[in-house]
Amino acid sequence: MPKPLTPARVQQIVKRWRPKGYRLIWDRRRRAKSFWHPPTGLYNPSRRTIAMAPITNPDTLCAFLHECAHARLKHGHGPVHLEEWEAEHSSLDRVRKYGYRVSLSYRLRTFVMLGRYIRLDRRNGVPIDPRVTRWIAWRA
Ligand SMILES: [Zn+2]
Repeated sequence: MPKPLTPARVQQIVKRWRPKGYRLIWDRRRRAKSFWHPPTGLYNPSRRTIAMAPITNPDTLCAFLHECAHARLKHGHGPVHLEEWEAEHSSLDRVRKYGYRVSLSYRLRTFVMLGRYIRLDRRNGVPIDPRVTRWIAWRA
């Protein structure tokens, strides 16, 4: 059994993964709104901030780790589908390693979003990284 996601546990994880030099903004408006709208985060490299719903469950934890991955990997220049996939699969792995499971809603949203980014990049003539399509195929 994983350790319960208590505020102390959350604090410990945040301390471990918060990117150096980034300020965290906890924004309640970014909480999950419905099954189809899981929590959102925003990574802003020019202001060096990460805006996030408060972490209260594995979904919000995963969204936080996703934004941290963007910051750590200095994203913002590469193909969108590739950067989003890098951030998402690393945060899902990390949440799993901590012993938590994101909701079905969160996982479905991941596929919908990645599918959208792939179509968008394809339309703009960006070559699609086969690792991303393979990852989606395995999990679909
Ligand atoms: Zn992202």
